[in-house]
Amino acid sequence: MNDWGPSPAIWRNLRTPLLFGCLWALLAVGSLALRDGLGAALLIWAPSGVAVAAYRYAPRKDWLLLSGTLFAFMLGTSLVMGGEALSGSAYTLSNLVQAVVCATLSLRVLGSRTAQPRGIRDVAGLLGAAAVSCLIGALIALPFRADQALAEFAWWFLANIISILIITPILLHAGSVISRARAGAEVFLDRDLTLGLIGCAALCLLALTLEGVSLMPLLVAAMVWMAVRYGNAAIHFTLLSYVAVATMLSLGGENPVSFIAVTRAEGVLLIQSWLVTLLATALPISSMLMKRDELQFELIRRNAGMHENLMLLDLAEQMAGIGRWRMDLVTGEQEWSQRMLQMNGLPADLSPDPGDIRHLLPDNGRELMTQLSRNRHEREPFTFDYKVKPPRSPERILRISVLNEFDMADRRIALFGIAMDVTEQVHREQALDLARGRAVRLAAEAQQLANTDPLTSLPNRRCTFARLESMVDVASKHGTPLTAIMFDIDFFKAINDRHGHQTGDEVIVQVAELARRQARQGDLVGRIGGEEFVWLLPGIDSRGANALAERLRLSVERGIEGSALPNVTISIGLSQFAKGDDGDEMLARADAALYEAKEGGRNQVRRAA
Ligand code: GH3
Ligand code: MG
Ligand code: MG
Repeated sequence: MNDWGPSPAIWRNLRTPLLFGCLWALLAVGSLALRDGLGAALLIWAPSGVAVAAYRYAPRKDWLLLSGTLFAFMLGTSLVMGGEALSGSAYTLSNLVQAVVCATLSLRVLGSRTAQPRGIRDVAGLLGAAAVSCLIGALIALPFRADQALAEFAWWFLANIISILIITPILLHAGSVISRARAGAEVFLDRDLTLGLIGCAALCLLALTLEGVSLMPLLVAAMVWMAVRYGNAAIHFTLLSYVAVATMLSLGGENPVSFIAVTRAEGVLLIQSWLVTLLATALPISSMLMKRDELQFELIRRNAGMHENLMLLDLAEQMAGIGRWRMDLVTGEQEWSQRMLQMNGLPADLSPDPGDIRHLLPDNGRELMTQLSRNRHEREPFTFDYKVKPPRSPERILRISVLNEFDMADRRIALFGIAMDVTEQVHREQALDLARGRAVRLAAEAQQLANTDPLTSLPNRRCTFARLESMVDVASKHGTPLTAIMFDIDFFKAINDRHGHQTGDEVIVQVAELARRQARQGDLVGRIGGEEFVWLLPGIDSRGANALAERLRLSVERGIEGSALPNVTISIGLSQFAKGDDGDEMLARADAALYEAKEGGRNQVRRAA
């Protein structure tokens, strides 16, 4: 570390101020040499543009260091070139104040250090900033000029403002090109622009030297052409070329404007004001064009983005099998997505509006129209199915969800729908419904079979016992009466023996049928064994039950009129539900009573104790 000099950080910070300071001094010395050595008229005071560029380029925190450095270079140059200390200091102050004011106002107009002027407001703002700062600069310098006439004031003002309007943007442009090149971007000289600039310079030479005819309008046209063709940067370079030509023509004390009879000083002022006028005309035009190009580019970019989104949407719809449809009820216009057309069997080239398609629907769109009209006040999406019959392909079922769109006055103005082909789904559901129905039927049949005695179709033993338990539950819960009647065919073995098993079966069936006829609504007659039956009678007292049992006994004894089957009788045991009973206990008592009836001679009714 060197502990006697400035630290490396200061050197790094000083680099930019030193660079601009050197450039300032170089241009100042060059300009003065042109004027004093070669007799050129100074149309612009080029160093002013450098100073403003320095402040525009450097971050605000570096402005103090920059000011100090520039001050040193400015005053130094003035003294070296033989100027007086007082006027040198005044000019230095004038230049510095002018640059700081201009840079400050410009930054305020543009908003940030790196922002580019966009639009007329920015351009007007920058012109204003230059005008104000140059006015201040000229006012500070004027008292120290040898010639304090208005012409001298005008020259100073114009030389500075032109410099700021031309040199500053060129330097800032160069700065950004250099930093882009540093970042690895390719930098190239635009051949057409260069040729255009050379052409402009040649035209300017011609215009300023040709006597008897004024080509000035041509120069304006060339300027505008360059602005339109190449933008802001071209304006600055074109004007610089005009300045260069005019300066060259003024060498040796010549009047740069030879085609009109004016003094050299007047000629210089004339060219200066003409340059400012050109700038004030061309800059807004080119900035407007730039703005237009920018908008157009943005529009194209957005369009491309939208197009891409639509493609993605179409793709998503294709993949999801969803079709999109919108109908503007005010204009009658429709918008169909590709997938929607496809689902309705319509060719893709009918997109986006295939018109009225009702004739393509099997019912001429009746279902569709009815649904749309029925739900015309609906605020929520509503869904319904409709059928389409695309030409040369089978009928399809589309399920569409529709959302009504209303305006502020609550009028329905549009319909938005999303449709899905549900043909397969509906067919599957139908098949499923059918299968489900069959399964339910089969299960019911199985249940029936499991509970039914196949010979008599009466409830079997299992079912009878289960029903008895639930009847017992009801009786014990509500205290209602319940009777169990058990009966058994008398001497049945003998029937089998005498008439055969087949006839025995038929007798069993006949007895079952007779018992069924006696049963009341809500009763249950079940076959619990070979030729043993149970008759459950809820809600009847013992006398009533007794009478019914007697009636059954009698009807079996009588048999069925005209029946070829052998006559049989039955013995009956009867038990009444008593508090605390379960089904088994009731049946055991009925069985005991039945046993008593058998013992007692059969064909009779006995009641359990
Ligand atoms: P009882 O008067 O004491 O009842 O005399 P019974 O001969 O009827 O004697 P029991 O009730 O014990 O006899 C039942 C007979 O019924 C025995 C069996 O051969 C016959 N049987 C049982 N189930 C069937 C059937 O499904 N069909 C036929 N044909 N006979 C059956
Ligand atoms: Mg028997
Ligand atoms: Mg028996």
